[in-house]
Amino acid sequence: LLGANGEPGVTIFEEITGLANEHQAINLGQGFPDAEGPQEIRELAVKAIQDGANQYAPGSGIPALRNAIAKHQHRFYGLNIAPDTQVVVSTGATEAIAAAVLAFVEAGDEVVTFEPFYDSYAAMIGLANATHKVVKLRAPTFAPDLDELRQAVTSKTRMIIVNNPHNPTGTIFDTEVLDEIVALAHQHDCIILSDEVYEHLTFASAHVPIATRPGGFERTITLSSAGKSFSFTGWKVGWATGPRELITALRTVKQFLSYSSGPAFQPAVAQALELPDTFFERFAADLGARGDQLARGLEDVGIQVIRPKGTYFLVADLQGLGNDNAVEVAKLMPERIGVAAIPMSVFALQKNQKDYASLLRFAFCKRPEVISEAVARLQQLP
Ligand code: PMP
Ligand code: GLN
Repeated sequence: LLGANGEPGVTIFEEITGLANEHQAINLGQGFPDAEGPQEIRELAVKAIQDGANQYAPGSGIPALRNAIAKHQHRFYGLNIAPDTQVVVSTGATEAIAAAVLAFVEAGDEVVTFEPFYDSYAAMIGLANATHKVVKLRAPTFAPDLDELRQAVTSKTRMIIVNNPHNPTGTIFDTEVLDEIVALAHQHDCIILSDEVYEHLTFASAHVPIATRPGGFERTITLSSAGKSFSFTGWKVGWATGPRELITALRTVKQFLSYSSGPAFQPAVAQALELPDTFFERFAADLGARGDQLARGLEDVGIQVIRPKGTYFLVADLQGLGNDNAVEVAKLMPERIGVAAIPMSVFALQKNQKDYASLLRFAFCKRPEVISEAVARLQQLP
């Protein structure tokens, strides 16, 4: 649980955002948008506070939100989810990740993730005293090797954590990979935790939940969050859907983490989930354009970019530049050039960090003028 600087309790996001704030740098590190989510949805949260939604929400989430989540899963993916038994609202996807790992993973079990991985997976696997096995995603495609995947999942594996679309690489797994994960989960009797918080942030293809693949639903807990789809990262409203037994176990743990949260945000998020398709389409198209803008800017100054298929992150490779040590560069950048980014190696097991040494992750969920200014400053990088 050590931060990249070796200090306990400091995540890389906290550290780099701290540096960005200290030097008033443009923060392309921590992934949060600089534009507000829909105004009508914000107004609903204000109204809910005025109308008295200020005491504990039910432990599973308010019925209106659970219904809206079920309807959303049907509208976009054709999934039939029972709102009373197959949905639980959580304090961000983060809490659902914690609850799922603590509910299912015992000390000594193995958990397989792809690497690089979102930092909270490693932290939770550590807190559960489990063993973290990884399957590497290698540039430039960041697609896993299926043989490596088959070798990583064994009778000791309790859970496979999938993050699709994938933070930090911006890759999207194709259905062949999803189907192999499902097959392995059946073969080795383990659970799939599918973190799909970037489900609506895809640029070329519609998102495919692993729960829609044959045999997938019965083994999978699917997670999402209002933070990503509606630009309300601070509201910390997330949710988990899946088979009743899995959701019941997750909820049992979750009630002792936060019990419940966000009573005024929940009705607002319920309405957000019912926004028309055009909202989601425009949001993704807009973000894709921002990604292109940043990618072109980086490429213009001679930095190689791996173009993302989804999420609001892209990977830049510093190889060939004066300093290709991304950890060093990330720590110097806020002060030297006024831009912050995250070194990819922090999303890897310690022993593998060298494999990602020249890669930097940039967040592009920023206004076009902010990206333009960041690009101008990045010219000083080489
Ligand atoms: N999973 C992934 C892959 C993420 O990138 C993030 C957040 N940035 C989360 C989970 C956490 O989501 P939340 O803020 O809803 O807790
Ligand atoms: N998920 C965000 C990212 O990857 C950060 C979330 C956090 O700060 N914990 O940048």
